[in-house]
Amino acid sequence: MAITSGTSSRQGNPAWQWDEIVLACDLLRTHAWRGLRSDDPDVQELSKLLQLGPLHPPEVRGGTFRNPDGVARKTWDIATRHPDYTGRQTKGNKLDRMVLQAFIERPDEMQAAAEAIRIGLKSGALLDLPLVEEEDEHGASAPEGRLLLRQHVARERNPKLRAAKIKSVQDSGGAVACEVCSFDFERTYGPRGAGYIECHHIVPLHVSGPVKTKLADLALICSNCHRMIHRSSPWLTPSDLRDLVNVKHRI
Ligand SMILES: [Zn+2]
Ligand SMILES: [Zn+2]
Repeated sequence: MAITSGTSSRQGNPAWQWDEIVLACDLLRTHAWRGLRSDDPDVQELSKLLQLGPLHPPEVRGGTFRNPDGVARKTWDIATRHPDYTGRQTKGNKLDRMVLQAFIERPDEMQAAAEAIRIGLKSGALLDLPLVEEEDEHGASAPEGRLLLRQHVARERNPKLRAAKIKSVQDSGGAVACEVCSFDFERTYGPRGAGYIECHHIVPLHVSGPVKTKLADLALICSNCHRMIHRSSPWLTPSDLRDLVNVKHRI
């Protein structure tokens, strides 16, 4: 097998995205960061998983899309960039190096993200989620990747959970207002804003793994604060954002 070729885009396949490289790095981690051959069962399994993945629609895929040869080449592109590798480097790209760096600096978080992506692809939970705007805002380089971000947002927008959370706050005598800045949509917008608020899930999927959402994991947050929480990684907790808002007001 040739180990010197670069990204698969030359074969007419779309470039590897962050989520895919996370899975490749996690495979390498379990093989002492050594490049693998295309007949390795783990490479074949990853190839199947990536072919399932929803990041690249069928019309942009070439006939060799994420086949075992391509996956094996990717493992070499990444492995030869590892700081412990002393031989000649193959042609890796910037995103490969960024994901590898993230694995070296934050191994637990990246491993958990890989696990959550793998489980989500195998179970089908990640396959049909709508795209979210925030994907492009962070670039594709947040630890959780695009797919877990989509799952996170879908979970927060679940109307049943949102209604249950609002009801639980009202039942305990609380106001339907932002937990960070106290913004109350009804107070500002009148009846049109009554009962409106967004839900934020305070535990990212790459930290919790695929667990059932508890109401206690949801915070009521206004649209502005919600956007600021998700704006960059790592996401702020509501109380971090509250501190930030308070500091800003003192200036
Ligand atoms: Zn707010
Ligand atoms: Zn959120």
